[in-house]
Amino acid sequence: MTTDNNTATAKTEVVLTATQAALIEMLTENTGVHFLDSGGVYGRGWQRAQGRDFLSEPDATLDKWGTLSVSLFHFLDRVLEFDEEVNQVFEDWCDLNEEGGLGAMKPYLDYLVECGYEGIFGDDPEIYNIYNGEHAVDQIFQYFCWVGDDGDTYVCLSIHGGCDARGGYTDCKIFREIEEHGIHDVARGGLYCEADGCDAGWYTDSGGYNWYGNNQERDFKDPTPERDEDGEETGKFLCPCCGKATLKASMY
Ligand SMILES: [Zn+2]
Repeated sequence: MTTDNNTATAKTEVVLTATQAALIEMLTENTGVHFLDSGGVYGRGWQRAQGRDFLSEPDATLDKWGTLSVSLFHFLDRVLEFDEEVNQVFEDWCDLNEEGGLGAMKPYLDYLVECGYEGIFGDDPEIYNIYNGEHAVDQIFQYFCWVGDDGDTYVCLSIHGGCDARGGYTDCKIFREIEEHGIHDVARGGLYCEADGCDAGWYTDSGGYNWYGNNQERDFKDPTPERDEDGEETGKFLCPCCGKATLKASMY
């Protein structure tokens, strides 16, 4: 019995990095009910997020319509690193500035510009909302980047927790970019075949709108659905090269 108990404890003990902890805090933050929000039908992002095990979820999935969906948690965990020190500078600034508040991305951007900080192209930093472009990640977010005193790129990030893109963003947190320009790359993803001896794979940089073969000419248009013994679609797609295995989605 003792051994069993120990095993059970070991299984539930998950050690999160500071980045993962910060991201999960944001993804489960109660962003409230905005009057524009139609979340009652589908469940708002933050409500769906309660109790989710982000760490063990796959980094990407392909749904039964062949649509790619990349886990925002895994995407951000890959390209960003939570910076407690720079985040503390931001929080202290918010405490001293009435127009601030943790959700105030624009006032902080204006403040950084006043201090002489620049964006990654040497111009003023700009706020992007990925809602306005192609993306494969499963939740939208807004952010701006600036170059810090140490030459690293920092990201002020706020994740959307609701259904309607106009309201329901989390408080901002500050991260450091660990993959150059990775934060902008929200529309990429991959598909690959798991069968032995088959190296079929595709990648997209347009959220799955166009797929390009890694090792072969073949398109990934109109993939063949896998069917069970009764002829029902299983929701997976057969590899169009070997037909032996189903395709797996990946983040890149
Ligand atoms: Zn294959």
